[in-house]
Amino acid sequence: RTVYVNGDYLPETEAKVSIFDRGFLMADAVYEVTSVIGGKIIDFAGHSVRLQRSMSELEMVSPVTMDELLAIHRELITKNDLDEGGIYLQITRGAPGDRDFAWPDPEEVPCGIVLFTFNKPLVDSKVMDEGIKVISIADERWGRRDIKTTQLLYPSFAKMQAKKKGCADAWLVEDGLVTEGTANNAYIVKDGTIITRQLGNDILHGITRAAILRFAVEAQMKVEERPFTIEEAQQADEAFVTSATGFAQPVIEIDGATIGTGVPGDISKRLREIYTEEMIKTAI
Ligand code: PLP
Repeated sequence: RTVYVNGDYLPETEAKVSIFDRGFLMADAVYEVTSVIGGKIIDFAGHSVRLQRSMSELEMVSPVTMDELLAIHRELITKNDLDEGGIYLQITRGAPGDRDFAWPDPEEVPCGIVLFTFNKPLVDSKVMDEGIKVISIADERWGRRDIKTTQLLYPSFAKMQAKKKGCADAWLVEDGLVTEGTANNAYIVKDGTIITRQLGNDILHGITRAAILRFAVEAQMKVEERPFTIEEAQQADEAFVTSATGFAQPVIEIDGATIGTGVPGDISKRLREIYTEEMIKTAI
């Protein structure tokens, strides 16, 4: 693969960052993952707006403009002949040359930037046909989950707990209510109403979530933005998760309880179809 590091396009084996990089030492970094279909980028606008928000909440100064960022995405797609998959982008606080909890002045130490592509089948997915099983686990992450940082140890830990129980993912629970999945937003469907937690600091403001809710409303579906419990989810007609590289994926089991009839539900399937169709149409 050809990757991008601080202004250079390099073979991945030659790309290097400093051991003093704060992204490495302190997870002082923000990221985005954007999907690519047919060599085109899905919802670049949504991801670039969220990236800028993540940076501004942490007082980071972007090393590139959003136009430059789009150009880098495009160049990487071309250089890697990427048809279907995604692009990972990380902006780190940079490398002050030592370790200090206080972050450096951005004028003295500029942020670093790294991007790489990956191949992944997105449109035809086995998960879509079969659905996934999830476990529930306490949400032990920090309180600013609306900022997309690379502090991903707890979500990794939660995912490993799920895998040990033969499940694909975990739904995180705080004060008895589901926040979100380890790397996706969580939804249930009851009597035709789509229910998902309202936005706040406690969940990531999913770019896919925003699009899915917009399409649901346009398709005359009922949407309620409120938290729900695992018990309510277990009694729902359908459940699903959304993310940039997963689109909408049905959930068929939660903590061993079968959801609905145990197969992907009609509303989840319909939303995935609409999402895929609309996003391919507007990809750039
Ligand atoms: N929630 C969390 C914790 C995530 O990490 C992600 C994506 O990585 C999402 C939700 C879904 O966000 P998006 O739809 O923007 O990919």
